[in-house]
Amino acid sequence: MKPIIKVENLRKEYPVGDEVVVALDGVSFEIMPSEICCIFGASGSGKSTLLNQLAGLEKPTSGQVLIGGVPISRLSEKDLAIFRQRYLGFIFQSYNLMANMTAAENTALPLMFKGMRKKEAVARACSLLETVGLGHRLRHYPKEMSGGQQQRVGIARAFITKPKIIFADEPTGNLDTKTTGEVMKMIKGFAEKYERTIILVTHEPDLAEYATRIITLADGKIIDDRRKDRK
Ligand code: ADP
Ligand code: MG
Repeated sequence: MKPIIKVENLRKEYPVGDEVVVALDGVSFEIMPSEICCIFGASGSGKSTLLNQLAGLEKPTSGQVLIGGVPISRLSEKDLAIFRQRYLGFIFQSYNLMANMTAAENTALPLMFKGMRKKEAVARACSLLETVGLGHRLRHYPKEMSGGQQQRVGIARAFITKPKIIFADEPTGNLDTKTTGEVMKMIKGFAEKYERTIILVTHEPDLAEYATRIITLADGKIIDDRRKDRK
């Protein structure tokens, strides 16, 4: 099997006044399809910077990221936007749902961006939400749902187009312990059901329990990289 993500000697510097912050310092690794990879490390270790690089949201200072063999930093902004829409999904710490749309409409949105008619997109969204126990919240607006329910809608929205890779930056950062468990089980359940690759950034050691691979960063460098047996 070929790696789905290949990171080659990645470096990211940010100029700050007269100084330069080295956020990533020579990072290299490969991710295989359907790994659930946790990027772990203390605050400021470079996790979000790495996620932004993997998702093509920022250009590297040097080195490169290949996704399915494509060096994404060489794509034009337009091609990158198409690439992202086609292959990548995102789950956000603050859910990022549209306030004026219902749970079903929020979940349907990526299908509509791909050109599906609203009626069919919403029908598909409803059946996906029903499989995760949100059938009774389809017509609810974000402000009428708990944080955990909103994040479950965010996860359904990320998976509905079945992107090859789903990125999540601190997806449970705003949730309590019990809800965190529910949300992580949902991410892992979808990942396994649809055989998708997950890149999950966290500073919480407990979340590593859901991963099959744990890459630990400190000061922009990989200090540990281990695979676990699937549970
Ligand atoms: P983490 O997500 O692990 O908390 P980040 O990737 O956000 O860490 O940040 C890594 C380092 O890079 C930190 O020292 C941070 O201050 C710095 N950094 C991140 N983004 C920027 C930026 N846009 N400009 C300047 N420095 C940044
Ligand atoms: Mg961060």
